[in-house]
Amino acid sequence: MKLGLGKLGIGSQLFGVIAFASAQVMAQARPLPGNDVQQIYQRLLPQIDKIPAFDHHAHPGFADDADVDAMAAPPNATEALRTRDDNPELAVAAKALFGYPYNDFSPQHAQWLIDKKNELKKQLAGTAYFNSILDKINTESSVANRAMMADYLDAKRFPWVFFADSFMWPFNNTRETARNSDEGVYIPLQEKMLHRWMQQENVSQLPANFADYLTFISRVLEDNSKRGGIAMKFEVAYFRPTTFSDPSSTQAEDIYQRYVVGGIPTEKEYRTFQDFIFRYLIQESGRLHLPVHVHTAVGIGDYFNLSQSNIMNLESVLRDPRYASTTFVMIHGGYPLEREAIWLAAMKNVYLDSSFGELAQYPSAFKDTLKMWLETFPDKITFGTDCFPYNDVLGAEESYWLGVRSARTALAAALAEMVSEGEITEARALQLAHAYLHDTAVKLYGGRVH
Ligand SMILES: [Zn+2]
Repeated sequence: MKLGLGKLGIGSQLFGVIAFASAQVMAQARPLPGNDVQQIYQRLLPQIDKIPAFDHHAHPGFADDADVDAMAAPPNATEALRTRDDNPELAVAAKALFGYPYNDFSPQHAQWLIDKKNELKKQLAGTAYFNSILDKINTESSVANRAMMADYLDAKRFPWVFFADSFMWPFNNTRETARNSDEGVYIPLQEKMLHRWMQQENVSQLPANFADYLTFISRVLEDNSKRGGIAMKFEVAYFRPTTFSDPSSTQAEDIYQRYVVGGIPTEKEYRTFQDFIFRYLIQESGRLHLPVHVHTAVGIGDYFNLSQSNIMNLESVLRDPRYASTTFVMIHGGYPLEREAIWLAAMKNVYLDSSFGELAQYPSAFKDTLKMWLETFPDKITFGTDCFPYNDVLGAEESYWLGVRSARTALAAALAEMVSEGEITEARALQLAHAYLHDTAVKLYGGRVH
């Protein structure tokens, strides 16, 4: 219907225009984007590209550096399509970062990339090499979720997130290690991590007394915080179910004092002990202002148990008022249960990180995840890449690039749809982009990161 503005007086015309403009904003949101969605996307993307990002979850480092994680990928693990080495997008990443002149990674072509990176590492000595990678992708800072920090990473731009799982495996782990070939890789690395914490604290053997063991754990957390650690990370879903009972300290003490000197606890005893230690760690996290990062998603390896690591298992812990002063970050946002996961962020102290989601999914699918999150709790979601050095050719550099590009394009697309469908204005869209890419995560660390 044509609006009859021409028949009205000037004052009424003005009123009509204002009423029409506000009606566009106030109208009920539409279920489909309009024809303008592409143009809105084209307007938003360059502005989103200019936002310096804070990468909330990543494993920066070189492929020959064993400390990039506290665990390692089991050999021959199945990879989803986009995370395979032959993803042609990785050649695009190498082109963008290093001027790679080829479209594939045949051995001769791959050698070009290895040589190029070696040359750059020589030119950009010390911490300059990885800083230059962050500069190229407009990432201001990136979490370094690593077993230990590396001297070639600038601590100011790569804040350390250390691993806290190993305190849960202090006994004889013969049965845990033998469970399957994945655990055969993971559990010995947890034992190694616990020994490194013992070395750090000059403890030659675990204390015979349970209270002293808890003091030892707290000392490691305090020292890691002093050494620049901003958060503690759990990848416990790789090693056992994430359902945690609520045992008493007497129960845990009894089990500790029986088995710290040797012998194999039953599976139930070991779990009961671990449940207590997990709760002790998250309580300490509140006291020490060290947010808790928890792996909540599918995992690598062929034996990763999806149903036993369902993010909803953690609900009873997250909604427990005893842990109200602990900040939780659900790393990988529960993928592929991200729809359930966002409702956990209704808790004031619970946040989601979207890392890995933007690599496991193509941007068209990741856009839908982001849109659903932005429409629910836009102030509780944070950006991350989960970058990792896959091998000598495809390093953390290329996975950083692919993660950042995927997230920025999917974010622009999600927001463009929301604007076009009449949910938010473009100005609001850019505020949400700043929050997701940078501001929300940075605020969690009380000035320790930028
Ligand atoms: Zn990770």
